[in-house]
Amino acid sequence: MRVTTAFNKLLAIVGASVVSVTFTPEGVVVGLRRRRRRPICPCGWKGRAVYDSSTRRWRHLDLAASKLFLEAEIRRLHCRRCDRVRTEVVPWARPRARHTRDFEDVVAWLCQHTDKTTVTRLLRTSWETVAGIVGRVVAEHLDTRRLENIYRIGVDEVSWRKGHRYLTVVADHDRDGAVIWAGEGRDHTVLEHFYDLLGPDGCAQLQAVSLDMGGAYKTATDNKAGHARQCVDPFHVVKLANEAVDKARRQAWNAERRSNPAVTRPRGRPPAGLTPPPNTPRWVKHTRWALLKDPDALNNNQLAVLDALRRDRSVLYRCWQLKEGLRDLFRLRRPQDAGVHLDWWLAWACRCRIPAFVTLSKTIRANRDRILAAVELGLSNSKLEGLNSKIRLINHRGYGHHSAAALIGMIYLCCGGMTVELPTER
Ligand SMILES: [Zn+2]
Repeated sequence: MRVTTAFNKLLAIVGASVVSVTFTPEGVVVGLRRRRRRPICPCGWKGRAVYDSSTRRWRHLDLAASKLFLEAEIRRLHCRRCDRVRTEVVPWARPRARHTRDFEDVVAWLCQHTDKTTVTRLLRTSWETVAGIVGRVVAEHLDTRRLENIYRIGVDEVSWRKGHRYLTVVADHDRDGAVIWAGEGRDHTVLEHFYDLLGPDGCAQLQAVSLDMGGAYKTATDNKAGHARQCVDPFHVVKLANEAVDKARRQAWNAERRSNPAVTRPRGRPPAGLTPPPNTPRWVKHTRWALLKDPDALNNNQLAVLDALRRDRSVLYRCWQLKEGLRDLFRLRRPQDAGVHLDWWLAWACRCRIPAFVTLSKTIRANRDRILAAVELGLSNSKLEGLNSKIRLINHRGYGHHSAAALIGMIYLCCGGMTVELPTER
């Protein structure tokens, strides 16, 4: 069998046949000849005349340990529809790409599953190249119809870089919390831009929007989709309660430290399983996870800490009760009791004389109706709750992205419900 025939069978490139195989120091270069005569513009218009032509190389999937390149003549045409000179499309690669479609699909699939170092080392490519590829794959796979028939959305901000750099992320509650839109910034204009994309008809269809307790997203929603029910995501309510517990715990720690100045801190991490003596600053610090974790998920050590706090009638135990009391709002058997439960909690919290919880009760009172709307509509926060940490993980996997656009591409790829098919699974 001739080597060109062998490569023809091996690569099975649609629309071209192998005419040469050259072994070079960079890898194997396979020369292709196109079967089609008339060049096609990326917009779909078929040209008649060729403007000019050149030779281009595309990196293909590796052949054993060698890199494999496809080389072919590529032409430019004057497209009447685009009214400018454009490069024709080839069946094996996306427009403007220097890698084949198969190679790019493998990159995108790997990016969905693993971190930067693995992708760049395995495929012997740079992270900048990967970012460009992700942009092209997302542009092709991003369904424009994802913004149609939207009824219940969740909006949240994600911090992606130091120095208060934020993204606004919109997810669809009815599609398992898939991200349908992301934009740079977190003021009201960013979310208003999303509502503009939905259009007046799309906004009119919206039934519920779940938000944080900040004012920016509320302003945008009031302006553009005033009729939609607004609810505060339970995730944000619980997060604020956890922050209040943490604040109280730090105050207790500082108070213990002031009253016990003689206790010197031993250096290093304490041995596992060893509980510091109660009511020392170190012990107060030790209570952190016992107070914050879901009571069902506590280990024996943490249960013992909680029990010690209860026996001591510690202020931290009251904090824990207040936090769990607020979380009970989202675990009520009958959602119609939510109003009574929340009012009972507010009355308790505003008289508790723990500054962190008095402040929290004021915030909760200001958002009472929006919190109750979340309980009434049963907007499941479980999917959106994980989204924030998933996006932070994606950002971390790429060791922080240099531009918001690159991170947004990655978010669509990993959280937009996109399926990238591997060339081996087609
Ligand atoms: Zn065109």
